[in-house]
Amino acid sequence: MIEYGHFIGGKRVAGTSGRKQDVMQPMDGSVRGTVALASQAELRAAVENAKAAQPKWAATNPQRRVRVLMKFLELVARDYDELADILAREHGKTIADARGDIQRGLEVVEVCIGAPHMMKGEFTDGAGPGIDVYSMRQPLGVVAGITPFNFPAMIPLWKIAPAIACGNAFILKPSERDPGVPIRIAELFIEAGLPAGILNVVNGDKEVVDAILDDPDIKAIGFVGSTPIAHYIYSRGTASGKRVQCFGGAKNHMIIMPDADMDQTVDALIGAGYGSAGERCMAISVAVPVGNDTANRLMEKLVPRVESLKVGPSTDSSADFGPLVTAQALERVKGYVDIGVKEGAKLVVDGRGFKMQGYENGYYMGGCLFDNVTADMRIYKEEIFGPVLSVVRAPRYEDAIKLANDHEMGNGVAIFTRDGDAARDFASRVQVGMVGVNVPIPVPIAYYTFGGWKASSFGDLNQHGPDAFRFYTKTKTVTSRWPSGIKDGAEFVIPTMN
Ligand code: NAD
Repeated sequence: MIEYGHFIGGKRVAGTSGRKQDVMQPMDGSVRGTVALASQAELRAAVENAKAAQPKWAATNPQRRVRVLMKFLELVARDYDELADILAREHGKTIADARGDIQRGLEVVEVCIGAPHMMKGEFTDGAGPGIDVYSMRQPLGVVAGITPFNFPAMIPLWKIAPAIACGNAFILKPSERDPGVPIRIAELFIEAGLPAGILNVVNGDKEVVDAILDDPDIKAIGFVGSTPIAHYIYSRGTASGKRVQCFGGAKNHMIIMPDADMDQTVDALIGAGYGSAGERCMAISVAVPVGNDTANRLMEKLVPRVESLKVGPSTDSSADFGPLVTAQALERVKGYVDIGVKEGAKLVVDGRGFKMQGYENGYYMGGCLFDNVTADMRIYKEEIFGPVLSVVRAPRYEDAIKLANDHEMGNGVAIFTRDGDAARDFASRVQVGMVGVNVPIPVPIAYYTFGGWKASSFGDLNQHGPDAFRFYTKTKTVTSRWPSGIKDGAEFVIPTMN
């Protein structure tokens, strides 16, 4: 049994609140360990530590700061297998997918090695007579991140790397469902040379989140999770004067035009819809074939592929996806499938009854596929976050784009077509933050920014890319005038008053 406490002041510390909860291993439903749930007092200890360490870190020249990130990359390469194993065991995703989770986090660390460049200010020579104006970016101080269960390496790294590269101290409150990798990340940063106190991990639930929201020394919060909690964090955090960015849930559509290559489309859809058991904020959960003929051709190829999806334990390298994260998540997702049936959608593939032989207590279900879903159904409107794909048949392209535009969520969207004009029109008019053209999960590369629109995001700056350096720094602008000095060169005689 592993006992996860917190990581404060450069080392693991036990929880003192007396509250803890189990950390499960979804692939067999066993209890892997416990995680301490921090109190407000434990958060304060972390904040005090961070506050004491941050000024010296901020005063360290930026190139030296990012050398810690470079070393961290080496250490993760050394411990990749161990990290992927912890991640797969606590989350449930396959080892291969866990490696991808880590990799997409490292890509942001790599980009943050450019922090010295990204933090450069501007300069205007002679903005007025003898006046120069320049700006500089300075760290905020102590900042915090609150992250979801579904990417326990990637999302913490998306926040930690830019925050500390910019000279802040960081407090991470990871998901209580899979705390193992975040704690190891903190340890590896210390091994890489990060001073103690610059990265703290405080585990916990709502109690510690509320303490973060109200703490006067925490200047900014980056959140990723479900939309209701994102909205809550944004409202309460900004009300107490903090800089807050919150990324919420999703309902990502894939529009399939009549001219799309159907084999490629189905390949893309099967991975994007069912990979990681659909527990991705960029998963495709709605397929929108345009025209009945397109829909029929899609279903003909898609149904056998969904039926033959291979579900398996996280350690099975041949599995397409693993179990869901918790027993509650499994019940919730199956509950949505029941709702869809009651609402009148046609359940073409039913994975509710799937049992994994030898792992009967794991949180498995097979892939589910609904046809004839309509925009008024709950299974269309709400985020299911499981291996369930809904097909909504749209008569025309305009109906398809309207579906994506009218949906409350606006995280990601894709169009599959061979028509450049349709793709261009779609990319321009669709009201969604991240768009794929013949790319099913359009997660932008690390040097672009990541963020949805509408109820998928609260706040005005995206994650990673240039926005991250803006979010984790504040701008200071200096207007300076110097009195005229001696401009006649060196004087070799003692100056005297005339
Ligand atoms: P969640 O909202 O339940 O939890 C996220 C974080 O908030 C966790 O650290 C959790 O401890 C904390 N939290 C939970 N309930 C809280 C409460 N009542 N008060 C205060 N804090 C609370 O999300 P999750 O289930 O861990 O993750 C899945 C969700 O995250 C999905 O909705 C998914 O779409 C979303 N997500 C979004 C993005 C994105 O970039 N938009 C990325 C990944 C995941």
